[in-house]
Amino acid sequence: MKIYFDFDNTLIRTRPDFIEGYLNPTLCEMWGIDPETLHKYIKILQGDSHTSGVVSFSGELREILNEKFGKAYSESDFINAFNATKEEMVSFYEPNVLSVLEELKAAGHELGLFTEAFDVKFQMAKIQASNLLEYFDTKLNIIVPDKSLGEVLENIEDDSWVIDDKKIIVDRLNSYFKGRVNVVMYDPNSKYSQFKDDYRYYITDLMQIIKIINE
Ligand SMILES: [Mg+2]
Repeated sequence: MKIYFDFDNTLIRTRPDFIEGYLNPTLCEMWGIDPETLHKYIKILQGDSHTSGVVSFSGELREILNEKFGKAYSESDFINAFNATKEEMVSFYEPNVLSVLEELKAAGHELGLFTEAFDVKFQMAKIQASNLLEYFDTKLNIIVPDKSLGEVLENIEDDSWVIDDKKIIVDRLNSYFKGRVNVVMYDPNSKYSQFKDDYRYYITDLMQIIKIINE
């Protein structure tokens, strides 16, 4: 079986916990920017409905860095910041993530990442720093700016599994696949529990995947 995992907040709580708690302060230190000031601008961005839900480091933030702080966005800065926070990242894994990945692999399943990124290199730096990349098959990994695009979804084989924590994405995938691919709603904080009957597969713990796919 091919099983695709979303990355952010499905495997690891990157937003806002890790990004705001560790990555942003590390970048601020590297750039000599006051973290409070940067935080203020990020909040303004997140308050804008157009950018709500966007990662703290979005394309807009690049503009802020440039305009307000006179800093040029540098890919290597992000890679260095991720590397500097590598050890902290492990403490943001979702519960049971390693046992689930190990168990699925041991049972012979092929695992892939299916993740959105405003910048693929930024996302890869984040994934590499998480130490989770080794569990996934490079041939299967899908890292794209928009995961609901039809051409991206066409490449996912029938009867594969996709696990994601974002309701809007799960809904889009379900309406696109119409059962051709099994889509699992992962809701660790029971944020969408009132909608759980709308989903064929709804889980609050990653461990439940093992049971679901064996049914
Ligand atoms: Mg996610």
